[in-house]
Amino acid sequence: MTDATASAPAAGASWLGKLEGKVSWILLGVAGLLLPLLDDSYIGVIAQRAYIYWVLSAGLNLVVGYAGQIAIGWVSMLTLGAYTTAALTAGTATEPWHPYLALIAGGVVGAVAGLVVGLPALRLRTFYFAMTTLGFATIVTQVALAWKSVTGGGVGTPGPVFPWPFDPGWGFYYFCFILAALATWMTANIASSRFGRALVAIRDAEVAAEASGIAKPKLLMAVFLFAGALGGVAGGLFSSLQSYITPDAFTFEISVLFFIAILIGGRGSILGPALGTIILTALPEFAAPLVQWSTFLYAALLLVIVLVIPGGIADLLDYKNRRPLEQHREIAPRQELLGRLLDKSDAKHTIALKDIALHFGGVRAIDGLDLEIRSGEVQGLIGPNGSGKTTTLNVISGYYAPKSGTLMLDGRSLPFGQPHLRARYRIARTFQTPRLVGAASVLENVMIGGTVHGHASFAEATLALPRNRRDEKLLHEAAMQALATVGLENLAGVRADRLQHSELRFMEIARALMLRPAFLMLDEPAAGLSPEEIRRLGSLIKAISREGTGVLLVEHHADLIFDICDHVTVLNLGKVLAAGTPNEIRSHREVVSAYLGA
Ligand code: ADP
Ligand code: MG
Repeated sequence: MTDATASAPAAGASWLGKLEGKVSWILLGVAGLLLPLLDDSYIGVIAQRAYIYWVLSAGLNLVVGYAGQIAIGWVSMLTLGAYTTAALTAGTATEPWHPYLALIAGGVVGAVAGLVVGLPALRLRTFYFAMTTLGFATIVTQVALAWKSVTGGGVGTPGPVFPWPFDPGWGFYYFCFILAALATWMTANIASSRFGRALVAIRDAEVAAEASGIAKPKLLMAVFLFAGALGGVAGGLFSSLQSYITPDAFTFEISVLFFIAILIGGRGSILGPALGTIILTALPEFAAPLVQWSTFLYAALLLVIVLVIPGGIADLLDYKNRRPLEQHREIAPRQELLGRLLDKSDAKHTIALKDIALHFGGVRAIDGLDLEIRSGEVQGLIGPNGSGKTTTLNVISGYYAPKSGTLMLDGRSLPFGQPHLRARYRIARTFQTPRLVGAASVLENVMIGGTVHGHASFAEATLALPRNRRDEKLLHEAAMQALATVGLENLAGVRADRLQHSELRFMEIARALMLRPAFLMLDEPAAGLSPEEIRRLGSLIKAISREGTGVLLVEHHADLIFDICDHVTVLNLGKVLAAGTPNEIRSHREVVSAYLGA
């Protein structure tokens, strides 16, 4: 999410800043509008082809660039849309349809197909999913070959001719231009909404996305549907541009073009892949002898880009993130702001683990654990490496189902196996190794934490309707507040992968606070922090608990634990070695000899 369309508003972004981000799009738009003045029909056809490809790539960009799904055979959507539109217009299977209606039908067929092709992505890992998309493309082509009565088989079928106002020539040119612009607008809307951020979170930090309440299957299905629909519409336009279609018009090379255009454009950008599509469409045309070599050319280009600018075109354009950051930055949390972020309530809640046991093969990671986390208190959990602390957190966050024992919230048992449901109970967490979306800004990373608070649907986000704009405004305000609370507001607009380790730890806390958590679980938050930072972290955690949140603190820094905990549990080999107040633990003979080592 590095380009300006994907909303990276730094604190106090002015209209000038917003305009600056839109300049590239305005230039592209003006060039597209004025191109017919050249009155060169050859260039016109190349431009139409680029627009049509972009209609498809724009949707595919959400699948590949944002969600990180390797959908390499997306040409199948083009094929399906093209044949649906052409066959319905020609009336080979039904009464002839009006071309515009047939085009809509092409989009609908594409949407359904997108969903069908996308389903395996929920189960299959990257490479296997890539193969299923390729397999589907082959099947579609084979059906087109075999179903002669409708598709004309190998002989082919004429494409539709759209009547006024988008009749062949510059009329059709503007049709393609408008649809490309529309596709850009819609994908940019999705990308800059909580759905776009959630997609990138699934791609780069799936566990953190789940902990923020993001339901991967539902989101991916919506995106596959949308990308399929755009692919189908592109296919309908393509069949008209070709004027006559045969199955061999839908080559593997085109599919590769779509895919590579997105990669050289830059993952998580919209402008980059748009430019990538234009470049890859035009390149072989202007170097006619190279047409034979186009696949080779694409591959070579991809190689060069990956080696020289791994972030793609978008990275080249992202000059803001090349400005050096201040060297000696200080994290100064302002816990007095917590009150506005968390809804303080006097309601008392308790998470209770009773006799929890969990084994990994022969390893008894947890072996009969009792633990309570109560509103307004800090519960410490300490123990040597491998004693089962992180596993305990993973059980509470629903990631692992224990072999035996119960996990209750206020006397009701919590379900396992669907960690994204924990956000509904306002149980938030951070991770032992910070999980972040490196390419997104710090602000966007924090906004991901509030995903469940949005009300607008995916469709409302696509069309930037008022409810979505309200969601965004509220999320933006809350995230700035959370950043100010942990002392990172000056870094809001910076790419998260440029932060120092200690800053990432505080950023994760800000993200967790976005849930307005009733319970907050911190996995070694002080690891890698300076003594002064640990002191500030300690008072921040203490303040969070005073607002009524129940905190579970896993730590190695004994000072921090004894300073701020109300109650401490010591684990050893998955068993409770001791439990009590900090004073009791400090003087517990076994703990001192086995763990504190004094
Ligand atoms: P801690 O956080 O206290 O350092 P963990 O909870 O990470 O300890 O690990 C407890 C034990 O469980 C260790 O022996 C670790 O190797 C094992 N363990 C943790 N997660 C897994 C896993 N996913 N598969 C197999 N073993 C695991
Ligand atoms: Mg651990």
